[in-house]
Amino acid sequence: MQGTLQTTSPTTPPKSSPLRVLIAGGGIGGLAAALAIARTGGEVRVFERRAQSDEDGAGIQLGPNGTRILQSLGLADQLSSQVATPDALFVHDGPMGVRVAELPLGGWLAERHGAPYWVAHRADLHAALRRAVDEHPLIELRHGIEIEDAETYSDEVLARSGGQIVGAGDILIAADGLRSTLRQNLFGTRLPRYSGKSAARTVIRREQIPDGILQDSVGIWLAPKGHVVHYPVRAGRELAIVVIRNDLAVDEGWATAVAHDWVKDAVQDFAAPVRSLIAASDNWRKWALFELPPLKTWVNDRVVLLGDAAHPVLPFLAQGAVLALEDALTLARCLSDSDSVPKALGSYQTQRSRRAEGVQAASRRNGQIYHLDGPLRQARNVTLTISPPKRVMASYDWLYGWRPSA
Ligand SMILES: Cc1cc2nc3c(=O)[nH]c(=O)nc-3n(C[C@H](O)[C@H](O)[C@H](O)COP(=O)(O)OP(=O)(O)OC[C@H]3O[C@@H](n4cnc5c(N)ncnc54)[C@H](O)[C@@H]3O)c2cc1C
Repeated sequence: MQGTLQTTSPTTPPKSSPLRVLIAGGGIGGLAAALAIARTGGEVRVFERRAQSDEDGAGIQLGPNGTRILQSLGLADQLSSQVATPDALFVHDGPMGVRVAELPLGGWLAERHGAPYWVAHRADLHAALRRAVDEHPLIELRHGIEIEDAETYSDEVLARSGGQIVGAGDILIAADGLRSTLRQNLFGTRLPRYSGKSAARTVIRREQIPDGILQDSVGIWLAPKGHVVHYPVRAGRELAIVVIRNDLAVDEGWATAVAHDWVKDAVQDFAAPVRSLIAASDNWRKWALFELPPLKTWVNDRVVLLGDAAHPVLPFLAQGAVLALEDALTLARCLSDSDSVPKALGSYQTQRSRRAEGVQAASRRNGQIYHLDGPLRQARNVTLTISPPKRVMASYDWLYGWRPSA
């Protein structure tokens, strides 16, 4: 930090003013936090590094714990006509091409948790958040500004970009993602560690889906060195595909174009429908997957971490963005329920850190199970085949049933 100065800042507003919140990062976490806080009367300024949104070419799964929050933020009307609500999750052994489980999603899961399981195009989710943010009179979103540092005073925080102060607020939320600059500069944490795996993603049109691939469900094909996931997006008009594989070449980018051979190579031992599916697109983008050990603290004076900046999650439970939504709702509630910023931020961290660590650990475990080999792989397949599907899904009640503390 530029220095924690226990003095009063010259820009301090009168005490009766609404809470002034600065947010670094206009991704899913930052925009959801802006909406949740503005709904409680806070005045929010969001600074996004990118000149414009470029969320194309990838899907996102949103469990009931995430869709419940999107509904509460008023996004259900816009999103429900754009998402798909898959009826089931079909699990296969990828190389054998054998289905080992059919787990219920659709109406069964929606009834159990009071909110649906949605699968969406990332661009549609981001656009819905953007639209709500643009329409909200208490939120200002500025593009092309990278927040690099902050100065904290006893009564406010100043955000810096390019050596200039670009905003003053009661708190600064660092929602600046996996490689958070604010986390690096203000919390002195280690850099995220490469997991040894990368993900390639694409979206194809419905008419390109080959035989043997179910169009209206989530499909997952497991193998020792990687796996493939696909699900419908854009109300079923398109199919999002993700291929995860071991990868020696670490790539720092979030959307590096990747050669088709890299993806084809990952599924060369898979059953024919998966190989045909992968052949259907030659426009793949790669994301290297990183991990970060749990942080000692998410709060530094008036600066607080949210979403991937606080707790990046491996995507093997499809929960990273959903956790960011949970963070956003919890932080907004803590801020509106407390008359003291330090108390509110402390309460937010207490409510969120164990939950995030639990989901991080479960995601890592899922990845290990997905990539089992030899007798353990056979044992996994047998276990999934004989387990009652509803009981398997009920074992995720702790995940999908999340609600903020009263
Ligand atoms: C292959 C893959 C599949 C996934 N699938 C799912 C899924 O199905 N379901 C799910 O819930 N999650 C999924 N995730 C995880 C999910 O994408 C992330 O957890 C989520 O995007 C985190 O949101 P965020 O807002 O915290 O960070 P980000 O999405 O990274 O957003 C951060 C934003 O901050 C901006 N920024 C960065 N630095 C600065 C700065 N200094 N100043 C200003 N702006 C800045 C960036 O440009 C970006 O817009 C997946 C991830 C991967 C890699």
